[in-house]
Amino acid sequence: MDGAARKQLLRAYEPPSWAADLAIVPKYRIQLANVNTPIQRWYLPGIPDGFEVYIKRDDMLGCELTGNKIRKLEFLLADAIDQGCQSVITCGGIQSNHCRTTALASRQLGLQPYLLLRSMPDPGKEMHVGNALLDRLIGSHLYLIPKKAQQAKEIIPRMQQLAQALKKEKDEDAYIIPVGGSTAIGLYGYIEGFEELLQQGAPDRFSDLVIATGSGGSTAGLAIGNYLNDSKMKIHGMMVCDGSNYFRDHIDDTLAEIGLRDRCGVKADDIVDLVDGVRGQGYGVSTKEELDFIGDVAMTTGIFLDGTYTGKAAFHMVKQMQTNPQRFRGKKILFLHTGGIFSVFDGRMDAVLQSNTAAKSIHEWFQVSDTVPWIPQ
Ligand SMILES: *Cc1c(COP(=O)(O)O)cnc(C)c1O
Repeated sequence: MDGAARKQLLRAYEPPSWAADLAIVPKYRIQLANVNTPIQRWYLPGIPDGFEVYIKRDDMLGCELTGNKIRKLEFLLADAIDQGCQSVITCGGIQSNHCRTTALASRQLGLQPYLLLRSMPDPGKEMHVGNALLDRLIGSHLYLIPKKAQQAKEIIPRMQQLAQALKKEKDEDAYIIPVGGSTAIGLYGYIEGFEELLQQGAPDRFSDLVIATGSGGSTAGLAIGNYLNDSKMKIHGMMVCDGSNYFRDHIDDTLAEIGLRDRCGVKADDIVDLVDGVRGQGYGVSTKEELDFIGDVAMTTGIFLDGTYTGKAAFHMVKQMQTNPQRFRGKKILFLHTGGIFSVFDGRMDAVLQSNTAAKSIHEWFQVSDTVPWIPQ
């Protein structure tokens, strides 16, 4: 696909009326996601009496493009195409859902994907599994950068340097997407996501909405939508990555950027409950207890959570319901499933196969026999 064919995919974007006055509004959107994802009752294990939990299936936004990032990329990649770019540069961990989604969507649009992946010097088998496998199978151009690299000082400069080199050496224009796609343009993924929740009647049906907060853009979009619509839902952002101080700043900056701070004086703490203590052993690091929870959820409800985001968010949502129920405005809770399915294939779930007897229900039946060799008790 060339630049002219790409431009034909652009659709002029009209925001919902409640977002029309924001200071930054994207010009274009492209259709990449299967939006209008369903909301289902979710019989999550461990929920105290009285609570009802539902799940919004944003893991169903796509197959290989699954998860919340594709909503943002409908706006970010439209912006890249509008600017006439031929390549896209972004960054994340080796198992980044954001990098995988960006790379796949880029390939589908004929754009060259360049990924800066935070890594140990020798990542070994991690490069063969999960999201990294998909990144490589579509020929993403990968650069391994230090695991602890900081966005502002160490990652953005590298991305800019790469963009300059691509221009100089290949006359390619590159579009840079910061970690997680949480820019004012990417914010519109969940401005539209909130509009979809309105169409589904969410503020009337649910007292609370719970989401895993990574780079913050999805939580910010939902919280802003919730605020601008005077909804009574309470939004809870589960801090799986940094602490609440970082996101308070990120959301406050976003509010300033889109003009809401000047207009309404609104601050992060007015519109979202930032829940600390969710990160556990570290970003992307799972404890046995968390992995067992993911296993139990899969075995009892048929829904896969991931170890980095949704697994921790759901685990601590249940804990909060048990120990701190007054944190919720009411008892009808909507959990936003933001995706992450490919982490099931990143090796972490081996621990569940080893420890959970239900995962070992494997019985030989190689010979024809009068009786079934084994049935459950
Ligand atoms: C990126 C991601 C999140 C967090 O979304 P942000 O907009 O970055 O806060 C949550 N869940 C999954 C599965 C993700 O990949």
